[in-house]
Amino acid sequence: MNDESMSAATDDALIEPKDRISRGVQHEEPLIFERSRPGLRGFELTDEDWDVEPVEPGVELGEQLLRGEPAELPEVTEPEVVRHFTRLSQWNYAIDTGFYPLGSCTMKYNPKVNESTARLPGFAQLHPYLPDRWCQGALELMWRLQSLLSEVAGLPHCSLQPAAGAQGELTGLMCIRAYHDARGDHGRDKIIVPDSAHGTNPASAAFNGFSVIEVASNEDGTLDPQAVAEVMDETVAGLMITNPNTLGIFERDIDEICRIVHDGGGKVYMDGANMNAILGKARPGDFGIDVMHFNVHKTFSTPHGGGGPGGGPICVNDDLEPFLPIPRIEKAGEDSDLEFVRNFDDHPQSVGKVKAFWGNFLVYVRAYTYLREYGSDLPKISERAVVNANYLRARLADRYNVSFPGRCMHEVVFDDQSFKELGVSTMDIAKRLIDYGFHPPTIYFPLNVDGALMVEPTETESLRSLDEFVDTMETIYREAEESPELLERAPQNAFRTRLDETTAARKPVLTYRQLQQKENPRR
Ligand SMILES: *Cc1c(COP(=O)(O)O)cnc(C)c1O
Repeated sequence: MNDESMSAATDDALIEPKDRISRGVQHEEPLIFERSRPGLRGFELTDEDWDVEPVEPGVELGEQLLRGEPAELPEVTEPEVVRHFTRLSQWNYAIDTGFYPLGSCTMKYNPKVNESTARLPGFAQLHPYLPDRWCQGALELMWRLQSLLSEVAGLPHCSLQPAAGAQGELTGLMCIRAYHDARGDHGRDKIIVPDSAHGTNPASAAFNGFSVIEVASNEDGTLDPQAVAEVMDETVAGLMITNPNTLGIFERDIDEICRIVHDGGGKVYMDGANMNAILGKARPGDFGIDVMHFNVHKTFSTPHGGGGPGGGPICVNDDLEPFLPIPRIEKAGEDSDLEFVRNFDDHPQSVGKVKAFWGNFLVYVRAYTYLREYGSDLPKISERAVVNANYLRARLADRYNVSFPGRCMHEVVFDDQSFKELGVSTMDIAKRLIDYGFHPPTIYFPLNVDGALMVEPTETESLRSLDEFVDTMETIYREAEESPELLERAPQNAFRTRLDETTAARKPVLTYRQLQQKENPRR
């Protein structure tokens, strides 16, 4: 964009923000219950439809299970139902409708081919109780995915079972605890966690009964080996570290840090949520990590906004292998007619089962598809993710203060230094982005940066969409200087204007009945 067109865009924006993506601003649309008219039907059962012989005598339902009155369902036509649900889907923000620059939680485009494979009936319609011989394809896919993840991690053993990163942390720490216990080393009840860590890290440690020793990061945002050495002793079970860390910086001294923990008898857990930055470039097992999780729904692309389903497989080294969850997927003996089997029995030291059946199997199908699609091009993902983040850092650095100077990895952290004195907060900037059709980045995290604004563009955004984001961030900065009230009141161009976030989180109104009760408490 040349200077002239940029300032034209900026002036327009000062008057009236452009709703670049139609967000379906239909506040006054009657809700589906209000559209209801007695007798309207989208679908009717005829007498013939009713005339079905029961195949077997059904189970007798007790009186108490029978409905006394008809369900209070809206009576509407088929198009009204279709419009209702389609409209609801449009009120959502999604990676398929716009840029989603969350830091830490990789939100990349989810290739549609993943969905096609996950819907293949041979995968989608499997029952988890099928005998091994009837689900060889699924077992083989999981076995292969384990091998691929182990290769990327540089750690030879893998369990797919944990359902998300947080559960991977829990399971990995259970393995560390079991390892120390098995050696009769019972005095280790602490875990070291840097202050830049994601909240799930100390939470998982505490959930496992460990107490947490927090260590502060350096001025350059990394962990100082000396700081680890000072707290490492025979009461420490291990260290949890994220690399690259949540400030988007690679922990340069990771090998020395691992050596210090190992020399003190501990194990090192790596939070792999940021693997998008180092795929095929650096392997955690090679730089000293004992156990790590992948967030396959982030790094290997599965739709996961709104809470799941996810996958948090863990990979471990030989020391921790005996403790991995069961069942394991194993190759049957050479002369067996079955190739893959589920083994529950031969792992007496296992921490047991952490998830029903196999975890979220269809997430594995998507992750496997994604990995096979890239194949040996996997490192390109990380190259582009890192270039994109550095492009945003370089282009925004004039206006927004970059918290840790120098090159970043896949994400970049800004803070509120440059705009605080204008009376504008990080929250205001984030809310104003909504007016321009962008999902806000992660804000006020990491906790060790004041007014943090953390951006991870991922490799899937084009130069054009990055430029649009930069232009908008520049426009918002000018607004902050010239008419900060626009930011204070933002968003105004969205389905909902600024919420009371505490009430929204603590007392959410999630059903039509709740809404009615709120508006008419006597009902
Ligand atoms: C997302 C994330 C987690 C938690 O992973 P879930 O899959 O959401 O449970 C942990 N650590 C970091 C750094 C993350 O970004």
